[in-house]
Amino acid sequence: MALNYDWFVAAMPCPVCGAVSARDEAIEMYTYARAHSDGADLGVGDAFAFPPGALAAGILDGYLTLCRPDDGEPVRLLNSWRCRTCGSLNWAEIVVADDRIATIDATPLDRNALARTHFIQNNAEFVAADLVGATARLTDDETLTILRRLLP
Ligand SMILES: [Zn+2]
Repeated sequence: MALNYDWFVAAMPCPVCGAVSARDEAIEMYTYARAHSDGADLGVGDAFAFPPGALAAGILDGYLTLCRPDDGEPVRLLNSWRCRTCGSLNWAEIVVADDRIATIDATPLDRNALARTHFIQNNAEFVAADLVGATARLTDDETLTILRRLLP
């Protein structure tokens, strides 16, 4: 069966334990954002095309929209990844420019990161739920409001 997602891969330094990850799928940095996704391992320099019309509509599968990118502007994604050494859930900023992955860098998930990026992976709902002790599902709007108010 064809996979409808891909993996971002990069050697990621863990902000919690300091270990640097392998550049492979074990860090669970999956993404549904690419057109014609097929389970590929995608690193810096690899081609990455979004589905036609997705950016103009400001809707990207698997992500919440922080800010719709302008035409031709580099697209900035926040994606979670898992440290295999200590198990912590960490975040990365991926920049896609001219249909190619320009950078994949570890970043703290904070208000600065929200302010400079366009899309955040939808599992950020669980980060928001932790921040407010929510036990019910949050809507996308609730998730973004909580993150913008309560992240450092
Ligand atoms: Zn770690």
